[in-house]
Amino acid sequence: MKSAPHPSSRQKYLYTHTFGCQMNEYDSLRVQRALSARGYACTDIMEQADVIFINTCSVREKAEQKVHSFVGRLRKLKNRKPSLKIVVGGCVAQQLGEKLTEKFDHLDIVVGTRGVHAIGDLLDQHEWDRRQRVHLPGDAPEDIPYEHGLPEKLSAKVTAPVTIMQGCNNFCTYCIVPHVRGPEKSRPPDHILLEIQALESSGVREVLLLGQNVNSYGKGLGENTSFVDLLRRIQAETQLLRLRFTTSHPKDLTTELMEAFAELPMLCKNLHLPFQSGSDRILARMNRNYSSVDYLRKIDHLRRICPEMGLSSDVMVGFPGETEEDFQDTLRLMERVRFDNLFSFQYSDRPMTQSVNFPHKIPKSIKTRRLTQLQALQARITLEKNLAEIGKRHNVLAEGKSRSGDGQITGRTEQNRAVNFSGPLSAVGSLVRVEIKEAFSHSLKGQLIS
Ligand code: SF4
Repeated sequence: MKSAPHPSSRQKYLYTHTFGCQMNEYDSLRVQRALSARGYACTDIMEQADVIFINTCSVREKAEQKVHSFVGRLRKLKNRKPSLKIVVGGCVAQQLGEKLTEKFDHLDIVVGTRGVHAIGDLLDQHEWDRRQRVHLPGDAPEDIPYEHGLPEKLSAKVTAPVTIMQGCNNFCTYCIVPHVRGPEKSRPPDHILLEIQALESSGVREVLLLGQNVNSYGKGLGENTSFVDLLRRIQAETQLLRLRFTTSHPKDLTTELMEAFAELPMLCKNLHLPFQSGSDRILARMNRNYSSVDYLRKIDHLRRICPEMGLSSDVMVGFPGETEEDFQDTLRLMERVRFDNLFSFQYSDRPMTQSVNFPHKIPKSIKTRRLTQLQALQARITLEKNLAEIGKRHNVLAEGKSRSGDGQITGRTEQNRAVNFSGPLSAVGSLVRVEIKEAFSHSLKGQLIS
């Protein structure tokens, strides 16, 4: 339901700061869309804002610390501008609730992961009652209400995220997500299609489907609503150039989904499949429900179906009880798979998780040494794989001007490699053919050939 524009004649501004994952990026976009329908404009200048929305992440200790120091620093701004409203949402908000308002008396609203859609109403209430508010709904709404289209500032984007489900049922022993985002809940496919079609009409050419575990999408929605059914519908009912998704759980990666990469032309040949550890002993203690052999078997099968598949993953070092031998198993798995890209982290205790109580915590110095060693290995593999791209030709979706400021266009291959090339700005939003000429650690440089 659309709300009337804000009655005030003065333009109101929203500043958004997002910590954490793409799901948070998406929720922040939703807040921007919802408040833009209420007359707010987005600003990149914090001092200009009437509302500051901080979307938070508590998946790692470091991320949570960053949130605390960011919110703390806003006190001075609030003192200078008492009409400013500061709103904290996301996982830290859900985890700490009232503790946040107790700690930060300059905070106006705390809103949990399942209440983000209510921010507009909470701000309106706060206009006439300035008390601090904490809104932590226990259950998600049937679907997240959203406004069609995008605010003006965002409408130039070529790619956009769309959340297809919230929460997670897996309870990996180290992970706070099921505790702060609740059980898995899939959005109805018709709503997802409507949102994608609205994005398309705003100029979006590539959609990234988001969820903590997208390949278990559809539970509780009835027949013909599996994740692959959803992908097929998007292929049939939209004109997108490209479709991607993240994140997948190895235990739920089915042969049907692997075959979809070969079947659906719009689906990019790229998969992010977190493995977390190469040691079966550690995987069992993490409650991941697969072994390293299961994982490798699926990767081999996928590569047989789709040899040009791009692969990325998440891995953790220093899980409680991880021995040197366990760590070597992780390095061996990396050498065997040769991921194109890898997101690597040190284990940290998170509240509410089982592993907080596990014995044999690994000292920080060992975790740091293991992470450095692992990242050096991945840097070598990534560079080798990038160098092997020289001379190859790729379809690249041109996304916009390169950040380097040298007038180049930037885009991505199907395998999600960043490519910069010289070309006209009119190419943005199109698929172009590019020959790779140079390779670096994090990107490729190419030449437009059509
Ligand atoms: S699958 Fe495991 S790691 Fe991923 S969100 Fe769920 S509990 Fe966390």
